[in-house]
Amino acid sequence: MSIICYVECAGSTIKKSSLECASFASQVASKLGVRAYAIVIANTDNAQLEMLGNYGIAEVLHIDDAQMLPMARASAIYDASKSINANIVIFPKSVSVDGFASRLAVKMKANMVSNVCELPITDGTFTVKRSLYTGKAFAITELKSENKVLVVKKNAVQPIVTQDKASVKKISFQPQETDTALKVTEVVKSSGDLLLTEAEIVVSGGRGMKGPENWHLIENLAKALGAATGCSKPVSDMDWRPHHEHVGQTGVKVSPNIYIAVGISGAIQHLAGVNTSKCIVVINKDPEAPFFKAADYGIVGDAFEILPKLTDAAKKILT
Ligand code: FAD
Repeated sequence: MSIICYVECAGSTIKKSSLECASFASQVASKLGVRAYAIVIANTDNAQLEMLGNYGIAEVLHIDDAQMLPMARASAIYDASKSINANIVIFPKSVSVDGFASRLAVKMKANMVSNVCELPITDGTFTVKRSLYTGKAFAITELKSENKVLVVKKNAVQPIVTQDKASVKKISFQPQETDTALKVTEVVKSSGDLLLTEAEIVVSGGRGMKGPENWHLIENLAKALGAATGCSKPVSDMDWRPHHEHVGQTGVKVSPNIYIAVGISGAIQHLAGVNTSKCIVVINKDPEAPFFKAADYGIVGDAFEILPKLTDAAKKILT
């Protein structure tokens, strides 16, 4: 028996959520006394792959193919899992994983749970805690089948980082006809230097910013902090900002170390996309704004006065 986790890359770089997932998988493996593997299906160099050892992965199976379709990915992971006798497959929660984790579960005849938010209890049972209703409730679920597929929420565990190196094995995969039924005709990449879902810090603006002409204030603070920029839904609906920056239930879900919300009221649909952030800072001129209830730090005041001061302070401290 062993455990394998699926590792996603942005280009050739392993995503932060996948490093967390690798650490989650290796912590489960050490609870069960089994070996932790990872599978990477991307054009990534050996240094990146070996670095997964820092997160407790003993061996990485690498398929050098960034274009592989979702159905084929499920089959490739299935074959790889069989080759190492893995009965637990662990995924990081992401839009692309949503497209094939359940296919894999069907192939493996596995119990599958999504939104896992803590390490499982392994006291003879295999019981997981998962988050429901955008983090408003939790379900405790026992997985009774021999094979299991877990999809892990961001920030579910504190990664344990070591100096170890993983060994890397190149493997190949030949898709069957059924794996290629879907055709990707176009890939549109989001703009911006930093991927919103990968950023350690996000500065996000809402309707309180009054208009796109004021966004330089958000961008200046983001630049000073090395942060990505996000926005509320109305802001992208009004074309003040591109749609890929829209954060929330119907937009991107982010889990940065620091989420700074400026002129955003804190509607439940917005909070659904940010409530796994480690620290939430809210800037709003209305002391009754609902976002303050979810905030770790709050500043009551006018964003147009506060943002330049914060940016200056960040520049002084960080440069
Ligand atoms: P507003 O609610 O207008 O709030 C603006 C805030 O700015 C106020 O709190 C105000 O006090 C403050 N403000 C004004 N001037 C200043 C100033 N000078 N300085 C500081 N603060 C100031 N929304 C999302 O964001 N993401 C989603 O994914 C999402 N999905 C939705 C899905 C559905 C099905 C529905 C029905 C709604 C969804 N919404 C979503 C919309 C959501 O309900 C809210 O309407 C939206 O989040 C409000 O955006 P806002 O906070 O920017 O604007």
